[in-house]
Amino acid sequence: MNRGQGRADRYGFRELELHFALISGQAGACPGPDRPDASVTGPEEGPRDALAERIAQLGQRLGAPELAPPGAEVVERNLQTDDLLALSRAELVGAIELGHIYPVFQPQISARHGGIVGLEVLARWSDKGCEHAPDKFVESMAGHGVETLLMDHFLCACARVQARFPRYHGRFSLNVNPRTAAAVDFIPVLLRASMSHGLDIARVVLELTEQTRLGCEGEARLLENLNALSNRGMVISQDDFGAGYASLQALGLLPFKQVKIDKTMLHRARHAERARRLLSLSMELARSLELQTVAEGVESDDDMALARSLGADLLQGFAISAPVPLERLGELAL
Ligand code: C2E
Ligand code: CA
Ligand code: CA
Repeated sequence: MNRGQGRADRYGFRELELHFALISGQAGACPGPDRPDASVTGPEEGPRDALAERIAQLGQRLGAPELAPPGAEVVERNLQTDDLLALSRAELVGAIELGHIYPVFQPQISARHGGIVGLEVLARWSDKGCEHAPDKFVESMAGHGVETLLMDHFLCACARVQARFPRYHGRFSLNVNPRTAAAVDFIPVLLRASMSHGLDIARVVLELTEQTRLGCEGEARLLENLNALSNRGMVISQDDFGAGYASLQALGLLPFKQVKIDKTMLHRARHAERARRLLSLSMELARSLELQTVAEGVESDDDMALARSLGADLLQGFAISAPVPLERLGELAL
C-alpha cells in the first residue's frame, strides 16, 4: 500500500474532507479571511481557485484507491535537498494532504518524577522509502505560508493520540516559525483547528523556532498573537535558547512560559567548564524569569544527571526515547 494512502486512512476521511474544504474555502465555518494562510500565497501558483480545484480533485481521487493520487508522483520522486527547497506551494500542500509529511512524537519527562508530561511533535517526510529531516523543508513551508495547514494536521494527530491514550494528560508541543505565528489569520486558524479536533488549547505548547527579523509590523503582530494565545492558556515556548537567533531580547518581550535550552549547550557542557557555567547561568536566568526549563538532546545518563543537577524541569532526548510515529506510541506506555 502506498504509505501516504495508509496515513490518509489513519487520519480518517471525514478529517481529510474537512481539510480539503478548509483550504479550498468551502467549509461553512471558514469565511474568506480566516482561510489558512490566505494572507501568504506563493507567487507562482496563479489564482487561489486553481489550487482549490487541484485539491478538490485530490480529494475525489483519494476516494478511489486504485488511482494514483495526484501529487504522489510529484512528491514521491526521490527528492534531493535542493528539490525540497525548490518545491512549490501546491506540491507542499499535496505532500501534507496525502500524508507524505506526517508527525512523529518525542516524549518529554519530568526531571522530578520521570513521568511523561509532554510530547513534541516533529515533522517527517516519507519519500520512496527515504525519510527527509524537517530542517530541509520546514523553511519552505513557512515561506510558502502552508505551515498552519501542517499544524492543523498535527493538531488532528494530537487529538487522535488523546483519544487513543485517554490516561495521558500531558501537553503536545508544536513547532512554529515566527513568520507563521505573526500571520494575520494565525489565531483563528489555530483556534478553529484545535476546536474542530476537540483538543484543549491549554494542552498545546507552541515552540517558537528561529528568531528571524520580522520588521516592526510583523514583530508587533507576533506579540499580539502570542499574547492572545497565551491568554487562552496556550504555553508559549522559546526553542533553541542559546543557539543562533534565539535572543535574550525576545525572552524579555514575548509571553514565554517555557524555554528549551538548545542541545548543543548541553553537549558542550559535557567537556568544557565554561560551557557548563553558561548552561548553569541559562537555567538560572530562566528560573529567575519564572520560566519552565526543558533540557533537550539528553543522550546519556550523564547528560540526564547534569541537566537535573542544574535544575532542568523537563528532559527530552534519545536517552529517554527517539521520536516515534503514532502507531508506536503505545510502546511508551503513555
Ligand atoms: P528542534 O525543535 O530543536 O527539535 C529537536 C531535534 O533534535 C529533532 O530533530 C529531534 O529528532 C532531535 N533530537 C531529539 N533528541 C535528540 C538527542 O538526544 N540528540 C540529538 N542530537 N538530537 C536529538 P528533527 O526532528 O530532525 O528536527 C529538526 C528541527 O526541525 C527541529 O529542531 C525544529 O526546529 C524543526 N522542525 C521539526 N518539525 C517541525 C515542524 O513541524 N514545524 C517547524 N516549524 N519546525 C519543525
Ligand atoms: Ca522544537
Ligand atoms: Ca530545540
